[in-house]
Amino acid sequence: MSQRNKKKTSKSGHSKNNSAKGPVLTGAKMDSLGFQAMESNVPGLSQVILQKLNMKNYDEYRSALEGKTPCTDFGIRSYFEMFQKMEDTFKFCVECKKLPDSLPDPRSLRRCKRCQNVYYCGSDCQRLNWPSHKKFCKKLKLAALDRLVEWLVFTGDIPFHTSTWTKNIQELQGWEDWFLIQEHLDEKLSAIKAGHYMNILWANAGKPKPDEVELMESIKRVTTDFFSRPVTIGLGLSMFHLDPYAKPTTVHVVGASHVETLNARVTDYDELSQMFPKHQGIEVVMVGMDVVDGPIMRPPLVAFGPRQRVYLSSYKDLYHNFWESQVETQQAARPDLVVAFHAGFHACPDLMASWLPTLLLLRDYKIPSLFTMYSEQELKQSLRILMELETQIISCGANPFASLKPEQAHSNPNKPPVYANSHYLLFHGLGGPSEEHDLGELEGEEEERSQRASNSTT
Ligand SMILES: [Zn+2]
Ligand SMILES: [Zn+2]
Repeated sequence: MSQRNKKKTSKSGHSKNNSAKGPVLTGAKMDSLGFQAMESNVPGLSQVILQKLNMKNYDEYRSALEGKTPCTDFGIRSYFEMFQKMEDTFKFCVECKKLPDSLPDPRSLRRCKRCQNVYYCGSDCQRLNWPSHKKFCKKLKLAALDRLVEWLVFTGDIPFHTSTWTKNIQELQGWEDWFLIQEHLDEKLSAIKAGHYMNILWANAGKPKPDEVELMESIKRVTTDFFSRPVTIGLGLSMFHLDPYAKPTTVHVVGASHVETLNARVTDYDELSQMFPKHQGIEVVMVGMDVVDGPIMRPPLVAFGPRQRVYLSSYKDLYHNFWESQVETQQAARPDLVVAFHAGFHACPDLMASWLPTLLLLRDYKIPSLFTMYSEQELKQSLRILMELETQIISCGANPFASLKPEQAHSNPNKPPVYANSHYLLFHGLGGPSEEHDLGELEGEEEERSQRASNSTT
């Protein structure tokens, strides 16, 4: 570990954004690859989205997202209009892919009554589509609900104020246990349910308000989505036996996307302080080309200051460049743990090319590394690549702190929804070809997970 000089830092990284920015919800999840995929699934849909946001092209959208465009209200004048525009981006016939404009009567597009999520140009298309839609209709109902409730993250209603963990992470099986350690949970959830913005939401959403239980479950799912990232970082620290009580801890989030950096503005990384009460200080540096300009765009710490605090900063560059210019020159501390949420290098050669120097760096400098994926399929593909690179795989499997909020493929909803951080993988240095983690082993991983976590070595 590199030595750090003493230097005072005054603020924690926590900063809450209480302004209501609805459309960012739809937008923040979309990158340029997402736009291309959408365009090939439903021609014209990406144009519809840009139009709704009063933008000409993807670059303009991107620049607004990065906070470079002064007009951030997307030209939206009322809540009703905002929710309508969000919904409009889902209006196309799932079967024949027609957009409202290409129908003789745009109003003939009707929503599936059950899920309130997908549309059909008529009963013929609905009938044709049902065999495939029926497998996903129930999950899509949850996705449609969560999409609305998620707005309350931007209004500051979600999450509720969390409690200090009374157990360590290895004693928790997952979110159910996490909710159990939250004090006055019912009161906190009821306050969100009865909140001012919750009322605005259902007065303007254009959809019937779900019953109390459904709404409560949705608030919980959105809460898990919100905390999945910091809690997964905590899980990584624990699985690598890194001890934030013993010394200040530095975590680098590699390939941080605009989603992570936007979330960092509102996401309570202080949850790490709740997980490790009275820790020696945890620094999280978000590094990536997609880092968004904002309050956490500030230099990483050279020396560690904030005991019992979480300090967030970010750096816009590829990780291996950041390493060379900041870590090598001791302007940033060497990481105790590197985390990559949804790196996606398995997805295409271009992404792999940009990730390769980072993967080799992490391997050769023997940095404890935690990567997460959206599905078991992605995990298998990522595992294969990391094994080819001869990294030492420490552990992998289903993440007990995966987001519980289903995410549908926007332009292709009749597919199994994915969940943020649904699977994880730990690697550490060079391993050589290993027989231990042959790919068939993944099934039934969930039961083994906690055991493996406690057996894992660094
Ligand atoms: Zn149709
Ligand atoms: Zn449906």
